[in-house]
Amino acid sequence: MSRTIMIFFGPAGSGKGTQAEMLGKFLHVPPISTGELLRQEVRANTPLGKHAKKLMVQGKLVGIDLMDKLIKKRLAKKDVTKGFILDGYPRTLEQLKHIFKIFKASDKLYFVIIEMTDKEILKRLTGRRACSCGAIYHLIYKKPKKKDICDKCGKKLFQRLDDKPSVIKKRLQDYKKRTKLMFKPASKRGELMKVDGSKTIPLIHKEIIKKLKALKAL
Ligand code: AMP
Repeated sequence: MSRTIMIFFGPAGSGKGTQAEMLGKFLHVPPISTGELLRQEVRANTPLGKHAKKLMVQGKLVGIDLMDKLIKKRLAKKDVTKGFILDGYPRTLEQLKHIFKIFKASDKLYFVIIEMTDKEILKRLTGRRACSCGAIYHLIYKKPKKKDICDKCGKKLFQRLDDKPSVIKKRLQDYKKRTKLMFKPASKRGELMKVDGSKTIPLIHKEIIKKLKALKAL
């Protein structure tokens, strides 16, 4: 059976996590966020989590071997048989080459690139709030029903350490450098599409669906 695999590229704060979740619901396939998989390890205080936390708070990437293991383990679950959505992985050319090895020749790949300016990203990320259950909110764009309280579990929201302005700037520079290198090999193996990340959440979702339909992915 051929699987449809959607891979989101976008700088931190471009809304790729939100879009990956919405597309997952629409297609009935799981969205897989490597950032969230790592944060689960951090919350569980596992050896991997302890190691990853030190790098994550500085906006640095977790090493290739750990990420390979993490992604392999997640892709071994049964819920990916129809397809899945990757959010935050691959992040480097090395990781892209790694998933090309894991994927089957029959897998259909679609790369969704969410484009945004640095100014808009800074505005967005400094307003982002997280909950320890994994839910994400925004002070302007995705407010919780009750101020600073998670809609899903009722816990107090907080600002992720890697959402502080100095860390964001570093993450943005790194993102641009690394992602550019992936476009050419990605376009050889699958379809690439660009969407304007400055639009509203529902409009971006609509644009993604429209473009995927045009590519006959849906
Ligand atoms: P994210 O939630 O996607 O913004 O990821 C948060 C942090 O987790 C990143 O800044 C990295 O430190 C780490 N991380 C997530 N995905 C990867 C990946 N594919 N490779 C290396 N580190 C990652």
